[in-house]
Amino acid sequence: MAELRSIAERPADPVIAIVGGGISGLAAAHHLAARCQARMVLLEASAHPGGKVRTQDVGDLRIEAGPDGFVADDGILTLCRELGLGSELVEAATTQAYHWGADGGLRPLTPPDMRHTGVRGQAPTRFFVLRNGLDRLIAALAQATPGLRVRSATAVTSLRRLNDGRLALGLSATGADGDIAPSSGAGTGPRTPNRPIASSTAGRAAGTAHVPDMTDGPSGTGAADLVADAAVVALPAREAAALLRDLAPDAAEALAGIPYLDLGVVTLVYPGRPWVLNGSGFLAAERPGRLMSGCTWLSEKWPHLALATQTVMRATTGGSGSRTWAAMSDDALAAAIHGELTDVLGPAPAPVATRVVRWREAIADHRFRDPARVARAHAALAGSHVALVAGGYTGGGLASCVAEAARAADAVVAELGPRLRRARGAEPPGPAGGRASADATQPAPDA
Ligand SMILES: Cc1cc2nc3c(=O)[nH]c(=O)nc-3n(C[C@H](O)[C@H](O)[C@H](O)COP(=O)(O)OP(=O)(O)OC[C@H]3O[C@@H](n4cnc5c(N)ncnc54)[C@H](O)[C@@H]3O)c2cc1C
Repeated sequence: MAELRSIAERPADPVIAIVGGGISGLAAAHHLAARCQARMVLLEASAHPGGKVRTQDVGDLRIEAGPDGFVADDGILTLCRELGLGSELVEAATTQAYHWGADGGLRPLTPPDMRHTGVRGQAPTRFFVLRNGLDRLIAALAQATPGLRVRSATAVTSLRRLNDGRLALGLSATGADGDIAPSSGAGTGPRTPNRPIASSTAGRAAGTAHVPDMTDGPSGTGAADLVADAAVVALPAREAAALLRDLAPDAAEALAGIPYLDLGVVTLVYPGRPWVLNGSGFLAAERPGRLMSGCTWLSEKWPHLALATQTVMRATTGGSGSRTWAAMSDDALAAAIHGELTDVLGPAPAPVATRVVRWREAIADHRFRDPARVARAHAALAGSHVALVAGGYTGGGLASCVAEAARAADAVVAELGPRLRRARGAEPPGPAGGRASADATQPAPDA
């Protein structure tokens, strides 16, 4: 009887709002679930979680349109294995990369050269991807995280503090899919509807809608669509800055100054093996008229794409160079990239399938990497019950996102403290104040 009474009197588990359903937000939810019992609501502006992780069908292949893989790191490798994806892990066959100079020559890249790519210290030696697509990791996280409720097509438009210390989140229904650019595929590859990415947020919302939730109710200082005890902000820097403007102006100011680059990703599938390649791809020097900023030789890099019948290339355009590509149609862009590939590698037949995806504010600009800014943002949020997952702009790509998500989960657990019940079978919470810190040692994404 006493036991029954204590269950009945026990206050409900705290509510943790997770803003952003990319790898950062989903990994934060996973790490939280491993540490505590909470009611977690993940708010994602677009119609599907995943953010920049986007796997597409190109011909009969599953090809990444966003991140192409991740650097070997215990956190993300363990995560994949915990989610039952260990057998899908594929390691890159080679990390030998080249540099396509302004003079037209192709030369091996050595680690010191890679400083220009944002890679610090030693060149990364091991890369991994998932055989059937990185979107498998997203799906597994979204479906298998205990206590997590994912609400897609719901943007968080405001974040403020209530009188009782809790957090009030304003929500807005974003409606149907949209995209940042009129890119829906080119050439002969099958078409996949585009999904909205980071920019598809509050500013594009299709009108404010009240979204009923378990935490609705009088908040004490006005209407809120969701009231939470803590929040994890897992957004690109500028979106995070916009959301934190009122609650933590210093954090917002630090994050708003992180510059991003727009990128186009052009995938080309060639019949047979037109070139003898020995490496993972090249980075291209800027030169007037040149569109490519780099190219990954997917069928050399990834053993599961090394087929005798076709060669798969993935070129990137944009970054810090000319913006000519942004005004070109998908077909024209794919044709021009094909032309540049034949310039640097030699003649080849026309590709049998191509695919173009354009990313606005794709990645943080590594030339202006400033760990002190991110550290300032974390410091400004200390004690606020709001944790930032900054892996997307500290330089290590997916691996960094997963690592930073773990630290954000530690920070939330440390701040909510005794109000949280420990997850069944969980280790004691991580070190108090284990807030994420800027990770300057992680290499830049892609190779
Ligand atoms: C072309 C390209 C190539 C890359 N290559 C690599 C690579 O090879 N290796 C690597 O490790 N990394 C790579 N990266 C980087 C990697 O993709 C990112 O670091 C990582 O995906 C960032 O994840 P995230 O969850 O932090 O952010 P995102 O993936 O941007 O997710 C943020 C989510 O938040 C949502 N959102 C935004 N605003 C709101 C709001 N107000 N309310 C609710 N939801 C909101 C967005 O819709 C989005 O789903 C690449 C990125 C790109 C674009």
